[in-house]
Amino acid sequence: MNKESVVAKKKFGQNFLKDQSVLRKIVESMPKNDNKVVEIGPGLGDLTKFLVDVKSVEAFEVDTDLCKLLQNNFKKEIDTKRLHLHCGDVLQAWKSSLVDEPYDLVANLPYYIATNIILKALADPMCKNILVMVQLEVAEKFCATSGQKVFGSLSVISQSIGTTNIVLAVPPTAFDPQPKVDSAVFLIEKTADRSDKDFEDLLRVAFTQPRKTLIKNLSAKYEKTVLQEAFLDLELALTIRPHQVSTQDYHQLYKITRSLDGRRNTRGTGN
Ligand code: SAM
Repeated sequence: MNKESVVAKKKFGQNFLKDQSVLRKIVESMPKNDNKVVEIGPGLGDLTKFLVDVKSVEAFEVDTDLCKLLQNNFKKEIDTKRLHLHCGDVLQAWKSSLVDEPYDLVANLPYYIATNIILKALADPMCKNILVMVQLEVAEKFCATSGQKVFGSLSVISQSIGTTNIVLAVPPTAFDPQPKVDSAVFLIEKTADRSDKDFEDLLRVAFTQPRKTLIKNLSAKYEKTVLQEAFLDLELALTIRPHQVSTQDYHQLYKITRSLDGRRNTRGTGN
């Protein structure tokens, strides 16, 4: 099999990036450091070719046909250990860390599992930076700032861990086959470890019904009196909606509700 005879498999989210200027821009946007690069879904190897020129790469590809093709086309890089190719599902391979040394994730991700992969990379202590192509809508959620309609739990989680920045919007014509949606490349430069699970639970509850008030959503988990005291402390209006609260105030809210929780009962926990 050669590259030209490959038929893209929808079930693996295969939309191959063909636009050379976009490929170049991705490589130019990589943070400058000595970290290894991890590529998830090398596909036909178009991005991989650029990546092995500048860094040593660990790549994970689920499609066995593409794996064979990559083994042939990157024989020299594999022999010289410039490229380490893992054939199989990356989610199966991912334990607490995906590889055992500091790495930057650089990839045109399979869209059907993109959010899951980014959350795993954010939680992975070996992953230092994330530069990925995803559906535009997903990039906007990770990069939104407080006040924007799409600001949600993904925005708070990513901004609690690092800085976020949309690098480039990419139209469907850059790919073969063309996806039905617009895409974007975005960068998360990590500056902290992932926030704890209880904080993320608070966020999940906070954004359950984005159009309702924040206090209404949170009252599913916390006593109203605890919330009223916390809102007063933070000078948050009781009518405020979840997307209008800053990442910093979510952290404060978490701290205050935890300390008040120590003194009062929370609903449903039986404490
Ligand atoms: N990097 C290539 C490019 O830019 O043209 C291909 C990107 S394509 C959007 C996504 C790639 O991820 C495909 O090669 C697909 O087979 C692979 N993939 C899908 N699910 C995967 C999984 N669970 N583990 C590893 N690779 C996966």
